[in-house]
Amino acid sequence: MDAKKRRESSGLMDLHIHTNASDGEPTVDEVLEMAKAKGLSIVAITDHYDPFAAGYGSQSGNVFDDKALEKQLQWRDQLPDDDDSLTVSIGIERGPIPVRLAIPSIQPDFVIASVHYITSKIPVERGQLFDERYWRAYMGEALRVVSGPQVDVVGHIAGYLPMGGMLFPGSTFEERREMEREIDSRFFSRQWYEDVFRAALANKTAIELHCATRTPRIDMVETGLEMGVRFSVGSDAHNAERVGNVAWAYDLIQSLGAGRQALWHPTAHADADLRSAGTRR
Ligand SMILES: [Zn+2]
Ligand SMILES: [Zn+2]
Repeated sequence: MDAKKRRESSGLMDLHIHTNASDGEPTVDEVLEMAKAKGLSIVAITDHYDPFAAGYGSQSGNVFDDKALEKQLQWRDQLPDDDDSLTVSIGIERGPIPVRLAIPSIQPDFVIASVHYITSKIPVERGQLFDERYWRAYMGEALRVVSGPQVDVVGHIAGYLPMGGMLFPGSTFEERREMEREIDSRFFSRQWYEDVFRAALANKTAIELHCATRTPRIDMVETGLEMGVRFSVGSDAHNAERVGNVAWAYDLIQSLGAGRQALWHPTAHADADLRSAGTRR
């Protein structure tokens, strides 16, 4: 099966990818190339756009702003029309505070809002990872983001948790995921997830299936599906190799018996087929 056929039959989406315009490694062209190689039907570039946290996501020294967004939009609009089976979407990933997108002609197709930090000032100490007050504040913050303005997708609600100030240096990626699972099981109650899902339904917000951290946990995804929540699939790739690493989400959705209609996708610039499926911008 050639790449195009594979795309048409698979309908795979990866809606969360970073480039070298923020803290990722690949160029937009490298992302596109990999998206084609992996047979994706929709690929979305979603660089960090967060003027309230200048240091966040700018390890590369690149701070993403309107100019950078405009450049990506122009790049996308100038792509040759030779491959209509791959839709390229340009989103942004903001933090917990909405950002000012003041120029009408420079608007992302969609916004991922992620609680990369909590806005209430709660002192944290190294080694104090299981501070109930802090995680209650996080849960409140996430709930506000889900139901607030300027959000199409809430990113990694139970992964990449804001625990930087509490960790000793030197933990591995897997160790941090282990800590997150512990935080999740201690504090993130079913009640909270249900509140988040209800708010998501009321505000037509999608919840992300975050493939890099394999969150939210399976039983909560199942609950969300039962409640009618739509989920957005994202690898959160920061390098080209990880673009399209979305098997976890698709396997999960399938194993829970849910159809593709449970998956959210950006409608702007999507092909007619997808547009007629009728989702919200
Ligand atoms: Zn993020
Ligand atoms: Zn991200």
